[in-house]
Amino acid sequence: MTKKANPSPINTTQDAKLLLDLFDNFLIDCDGVIWLAETLIPKVTQFLQLLQQQKKQIAFVTNNSSKSRRSYIAKFENLGIHGIHKDRVYTTGYSAVLELQKMGIRQGSKIWVLGDSGIEDELSDEGYIPLGGSNPLLDQSWNPKNPLLKVDPEVKAVVAGSTNEFNFMRIATTLQYLMYDNKRIPYIGTNGDRNYPGPEGLTLPAGGSIVEYMSYCSGRSYINVGKPSKTFADIIFYDTGFDRSRTTMIGDTLSSDIKFGNDANLGNGHGTLLVLSGVTTVPELKELIASTNHQRGDDSLVPQFYVDSLTKLYELLND
Ligand SMILES: [Mg+2]
Repeated sequence: MTKKANPSPINTTQDAKLLLDLFDNFLIDCDGVIWLAETLIPKVTQFLQLLQQQKKQIAFVTNNSSKSRRSYIAKFENLGIHGIHKDRVYTTGYSAVLELQKMGIRQGSKIWVLGDSGIEDELSDEGYIPLGGSNPLLDQSWNPKNPLLKVDPEVKAVVAGSTNEFNFMRIATTLQYLMYDNKRIPYIGTNGDRNYPGPEGLTLPAGGSIVEYMSYCSGRSYINVGKPSKTFADIIFYDTGFDRSRTTMIGDTLSSDIKFGNDANLGNGHGTLLVLSGVTTVPELKELIASTNHQRGDDSLVPQFYVDSLTKLYELLND
């Protein structure tokens, strides 16, 4: 289907109002949409209030696994966004937990973690025992006698995601689990994202860089529980009960947010809004549109709508 060779810009108040009328439910990415690192994008709070006043349903859907849902609520509060409930925040640390449950891996099981504390917290909150992760023994420089290199045969799965503490000891220990017993232990990756917009205009490596690194050195593929996977979409729609045909995904990344919305057939194939406040630039969007029109591009990456930022969308709606 070459449906969206020409995505619609949201440039006028009329465009913005029509967009809001099309949807009852808004799935909203966080990094690059709500905030850039620790800085709130202007007028996002007012935009969210406006959605709530109009009785729209909101869920936050992030591929970031570095924070747990509890930490996300704290971040929302710190940035002045109040009243968000934990059950409307979907992190990929949490979706990893739901995937373990779906696999029949019981609470009380040990899970090896390569990633930041968000994954460990979600696992602990749901009754699993995380190993690895932030264990200080993994901060040491390479030492083949490190006791964590010896595989604990009770570990039932490996979960990997983004971490700022990626080092040879973490790579080597995680690899032992991925190779153990003929590669029998399931390997879950929180997402396949290459990078994300950091502070000071920096582009930083995202979870997919870590997950794919381990995939490469183990020669194994992983179960992707983040956007754009169907697994994540199914979890969210099962949990929220949202009508997909009245739902849109707002995000800044073509390969995760926009592909997720298109693959999940949100808004009957029209439920995607790209914001240009994060990783995707205008030239990239133009290049995608041009290549799709010449049948070279992947049209699952093409958004139905695009707008500068939620700031702009709010200003148009308030004009
Ligand atoms: Mg993002």
